[in-house]
Amino acid sequence: MTHIYDIVIIGGGVAGFTAGLYAARDRCRALLLERFAAGGQVLNCEHIENYPGFPDGIAGYTLGPLLQQHATKLGLAVQLAEVQALHLEETVKVLQTDSGEVRTKALIVASGSRFATLGIPGEEEFLGKGVSHCAACDGAFFSDHPVAVIGGGDAALDEALLLTRYASHVTVIHRRDTLRACQLLQERARATQKLTFRWNTVVRAIEGNERVQRILLEDVKTGQQTSMNVAAVFIYIGLKPNTEFLRHLVPLNERGQIVTDLWMRTAIPGILAAGDVRHESARQLITAAGDGATAALAAIRYLRTGEWHAGNDYVFSRCQ
Ligand code: NAP
Repeated sequence: MTHIYDIVIIGGGVAGFTAGLYAARDRCRALLLERFAAGGQVLNCEHIENYPGFPDGIAGYTLGPLLQQHATKLGLAVQLAEVQALHLEETVKVLQTDSGEVRTKALIVASGSRFATLGIPGEEEFLGKGVSHCAACDGAFFSDHPVAVIGGGDAALDEALLLTRYASHVTVIHRRDTLRACQLLQERARATQKLTFRWNTVVRAIEGNERVQRILLEDVKTGQQTSMNVAAVFIYIGLKPNTEFLRHLVPLNERGQIVTDLWMRTAIPGILAAGDVRHESARQLITAAGDGATAALAAIRYLRTGEWHAGNDYVFSRCQ
């Protein structure tokens, strides 16, 4: 007989492993599918200082394996596989993966997001040759060279500050003159001598020979075009949800994020979403963990009762 899991979780980030931990602890037959490595986006973070319980901060590459260790110790199964498609056979959710078919009664989508791109000439061509989305991975390659960081959010400033350890100079290029990043990061960035801002400016092209050599800039107020010599461009202009495989089945918002209620339930019975793949996510590690726990509790309740009344007016009681 074909094996049917109680709960399958797509994505091995904080949201996914927290959901897995809760599911396994409730003795569900639970499987987490991850395509790369435990941790998801946190693997790019060298120093996480806003996850409670770690007063000295923790590196993302330390937290990632700990998440997996914790959940598997409680009984979660983990498989390295990429989900390609989803379809429904009555109440059973059937996932096509690059390692075969997986069937489950409840599905928690915690597939996260990937870095948004600028869509400018040179961006794709020089990816890995000076264009990067990971300062922790690539920063050291540009020791004593000038680099640029694009964006004005938390990620841009976090990574720009990290890059000042290596680069001769870091220029943060932002399309407005007000930053989106939290105040603490803004204060640190403004107090760092090696880091300067270029306001009201967008990048029109990335140029070079074998590797990045310069970027072409445009002042959005005056239209003036200039060029800047840099050895690398680190792009942090937000995130795009990984939801292509369920586009035809589960309602998404205009940004491609999964629409859920406060219990992480989608309109499809037994399908939930957690973390920054869902709409209105605060997109923080701690809220991803909260989403994961909430989604698992709601999935467990669905498995026990068969009830599915997605909607924020629904009063949820955990005890059966
Ligand atoms: P974000 O907060 O969405 O910021 C994206 C930045 O890129 C914004 O400043 C935006 O400009 C700019 N931008 C967007 N599209 C652009 C374009 N086409 N050209 C030029 N600039 C563009 O994204 P994020 O910084 O990646 O952060 C994502 C989420 O993760 C956030 O919720 C953030 O708080 C969280 N995060 C937190 C931490 C931390 O707590 N340390 C670290 C990393 C990420 P505008 O401001 O003009 O829109």
